[in-house]
Amino acid sequence: LPTSGNSIRRRFLEFYAARGHKILPSASLVPDDPTVLLTIAGMLPFKPIFLGQVPRQVTRATTSQRCIRTNDVENVGRTSRHHTMFEMLGNFSFGDYFKKEAIRWAWDLSTLEYGLPTDRLWISVYEDDDEAFEIWHNEIGVPVQRIKRMGEDDNFWTSGVTGPCGPCSEIYYDFHPERGHSDSDLGDDTRFIEFYNLVFMQYNKLDDGSLEPLKQKNIDTGLGLERMARILQKVPNNYETDLIFPIIEKASELANLSYALADDPTKTNLKIIGDHLRAVVFLISDGVAPSNIGRGYIVRRLIRRAVRMGRLLGIKGDGRGNTEGAFLPILAEKVIDLSTNIDSDVKARAARILEELKREELRFVMTLERGEKLLEQMLLDALLSAKEKGTVPFLSGKDAFLLYDTYGFPVEITTEVAGERGVSIDMSAFDVEMDNQRRQSQAAHNVVKLTVENGADLTGNIPDTEFLGYDTLSSRAKVEA
Ligand code: ATP
Ligand code: MG
Ligand code: MG
Ligand code: MG
Repeated sequence: LPTSGNSIRRRFLEFYAARGHKILPSASLVPDDPTVLLTIAGMLPFKPIFLGQVPRQVTRATTSQRCIRTNDVENVGRTSRHHTMFEMLGNFSFGDYFKKEAIRWAWDLSTLEYGLPTDRLWISVYEDDDEAFEIWHNEIGVPVQRIKRMGEDDNFWTSGVTGPCGPCSEIYYDFHPERGHSDSDLGDDTRFIEFYNLVFMQYNKLDDGSLEPLKQKNIDTGLGLERMARILQKVPNNYETDLIFPIIEKASELANLSYALADDPTKTNLKIIGDHLRAVVFLISDGVAPSNIGRGYIVRRLIRRAVRMGRLLGIKGDGRGNTEGAFLPILAEKVIDLSTNIDSDVKARAARILEELKREELRFVMTLERGEKLLEQMLLDALLSAKEKGTVPFLSGKDAFLLYDTYGFPVEITTEVAGERGVSIDMSAFDVEMDNQRRQSQAAHNVVKLTVENGADLTGNIPDTEFLGYDTLSSRAKVEA
């Protein structure tokens, strides 16, 4: 199929190969770079070339790079466009072509190769980048109403406090052109989706903050494969594309439910499972085993979250009648099946991946079951004391938080189980506890912000850094099984 995820990837690489780019394999999710924890963008493996630290072997390259962005974990399943792991298609120029060609090819790829209607495409440029504005308007012919000038936060890219940097320009797809030009906030994701970012690396930022023009100008781009698949396959979100949906269908089958008929919270849980399974399969494949520090902690959190989601959906054991079994390996097999065209050794490493997942899942289920026992005791106490006092039975926020924080026991499950017994939970007290913890982890959180922009600040903090960013969504278990 011309719109399948695999063909979108292949067509991108071939499009740029036909324009002199060397197709290079995806690098590992574990970067050869001490300043970032994980590969967060297609440019990362080329950073030493951009920085002039190593000589270039080629002047043009194109890749499909698997990426992980933990700062997007909270968005997963809640926005229609963010994943923990995604593939970034990119074309790169190392001191070769620049703005004119990059813009022309990005446009031709989008409109001629992928066939997107030109009047559906909107452009953002950096507010001071008149050159890019002119190219989009005069050479490509995009009307001025569909070119937005945006500020530094959105459209100026830096690799660190100093070093190569430059303005960028993004292409957005408009799902609702009937809304016209006046109501046109590119950040409104009910209407627009950003799919391609072109970075024009043209300055060197100096210590005093001034910008010195680079002798060697570079191009760094990124197009989200899942986003393009969603646009071309005309599905309501990235999760329903052929790149991810088969995993969701498999999870639905194990939970004995139908995605199409499910309510929104159930769909969100299924999307989270699909997302997290992809991420953990590729992380383990790239050598990251679940643990309590650094990257291993990220894997552990993602696995645990997927297990919790599975239990919320009612998956018991392996979902196929073996209550002592594990279901993640069954979903992981689906992820591995789908990876045929992805450039990695994931197939060859399948046995280890499945084994690792099984062990981690069963271990976590034990933790959860301990929490269930404790909850049972708490519920009996609550019921007894309510009876004595003649009051309504409830569980304190502190107790719910203890289960959540120390036993890794999800508050949704606490609420549900307690509810079945006629016990309510003091949720506002629980929220206070959560807020306290969130505030405490805030300082550390700032250290592990995994974006390109502040990647350079991370030097030296990586190997022992506990991943805390994730905890803003769900607390971490301090007691390990
Ligand atoms: P957004 O504003 O939607 O969060 P971004 O501006 O952070 O995206 P870039 O850093 O410009 O994204 O990355 C280049 C491209 O990679 C994006 O245009 C998008 O197509 C894709 N992309 C970025 N983050 C994600 C993600 N979490 N999941 C899927 N695709 C992504
Ligand atoms: Mg983003
Ligand atoms: Mg953006
Ligand atoms: Mg962007």
